[in-house]
Amino acid sequence: MTKAFYPGSFDPVTYGHIDIIKRAAKLFDTLDVGVLNNSEKLPLFSVEERVKMLERICEDIPNVHVLSYSGLLAEYTLKSGTDVIIRGLRAVTDFEYELQMSQTNRKLNPGVDTIFLTTSLEYAYLSSSIVREVAYYGGDVSNFVPEFVAETIYKKFSGKN
Ligand code: ADP
Repeated sequence: MTKAFYPGSFDPVTYGHIDIIKRAAKLFDTLDVGVLNNSEKLPLFSVEERVKMLERICEDIPNVHVLSYSGLLAEYTLKSGTDVIIRGLRAVTDFEYELQMSQTNRKLNPGVDTIFLTTSLEYAYLSSSIVREVAYYGGDVSNFVPEFVAETIYKKFSGKN
């Protein structure tokens, strides 16, 4: 059994993340999607809201489970018996940080490897921060996130949520 873990902020989840989740779910026996509970960052959505959105997206993928975690990723992977960390790579700009992170995590937990999935070309430009910015100014985000996620973002910005 190979246990994979896909950590991230997912603030909010985008089609880029969903693409990585679907592809990773095919490669590994189980895939946990972990929403980082980071007290230093001020997110748009609470951890509970982000977990809920991801759960709805993943409900039809039987080997995917959504959870939240806090603290060091290496420690979490040790505790949970994770074999593989999944990260998505969009462009060279992602690479330097991701390389450093994966080497640090391996130093702290030699039992874990990071596997990078390169983004599908149609999502290479896509990030949660771009989605937040476009939605903030009332722009159309329907090409970036599922319909129900778009509605949740607009509600959040209009103060109804
Ligand atoms: P973090 O704050 O941990 O970078 P994100 O939610 O921004 O959290 O991203 C989580 C992971 O998903 C990262 O590995 C990131 O590179 C990847 N990712 C984000 N957007 C895309 C995308 N459009 N295509 C492929 N991977 C992506």
